[in-house]
Amino acid sequence: MRVGLTGGIGSGKSTVSALLAERGAVVIDSDLLSREVVEPGTEGLAAVVARFGDGVLDADGRLDRPALGAIVFADDAARRDLEAIVHPLVRARAAELERAAGEDAVVVHDVPLLVETGQTDAYDVVVVVDVPTETQVERLVQQRGMAEVDARARITAQATRERRTGAADHVVDNTGSLEELTQSVDSLWETLTS
Ligand code: ATP
Repeated sequence: MRVGLTGGIGSGKSTVSALLAERGAVVIDSDLLSREVVEPGTEGLAAVVARFGDGVLDADGRLDRPALGAIVFADDAARRDLEAIVHPLVRARAAELERAAGEDAVVVHDVPLLVETGQTDAYDVVVVVDVPTETQVERLVQQRGMAEVDARARITAQATRERRTGAADHVVDNTGSLEELTQSVDSLWETLTS
C-alpha cells in the first residue's frame, strides 16, 4: 500500500513517520532522498555542477546548499533546471526503494507539499497531520528556534489547514502530547493494516 503523508511545516510529519516506521512501515522521505541523489560521486551532483559550475561546491567537494539556494532563489529558470535534474533522480530512487519493500509493505511517503503539488491521486491513502496554526507557530519558535514572523510566513505560503484536511483520507490530530500522538498513530496503523 502506498501512503502519502503530509502536513504543514512543523506539524509533526517526521514524528509520525518515525512512529509508523517503528510499527513496520517503510518510510520514504523525499527531502532525504533529494540530498542523497547529490552526494559526492553521484550522477546527480555531476549534473548540477555541469549546469551551475564549480561555485556550487564547497571545499570538500560537497554541494554548497546556501550557494545553490542563492542562485535558484533569484532565478526561476535556474530553479526549474535544478528540479529537472533532482526530481527524476528522487522519483527513480523512491521507486527502487518501493520495489525493494515488496508488495505487502505499507510504504509511507513523507511529502511536505503533497496537496500543494496536486499529488493526492498518486497514493492509495492520504494521511494529513493536522495542528492548529498557533500550535504550529509555537513549536517552530520553541523547538526549532525560528523567528515567529518567519514561521508565520512559511505557514501562509503553504495550503490552508482546510484545504489539506479536505484532501485527506485520514487526519492525525497532533494538537496534544506526544503520548496522545502515539495513540493516534496506533489506531492509524491498525486501520492501514486491517
Ligand atoms: P517539517 O515540516 O519542518 O519537516 P515536520 O512536520 O516533520 O516538520 P516534526 O519535525 O515531526 O514536524 O515536528 C516539529 C517539531 O515539533 C519537532 O521538534 C517535534 O519534536 C515537535 N513535536 C511534534 N509533535 C509534538 C507534540 N505532539 N508535542 C510537542 N512537540 C511535538
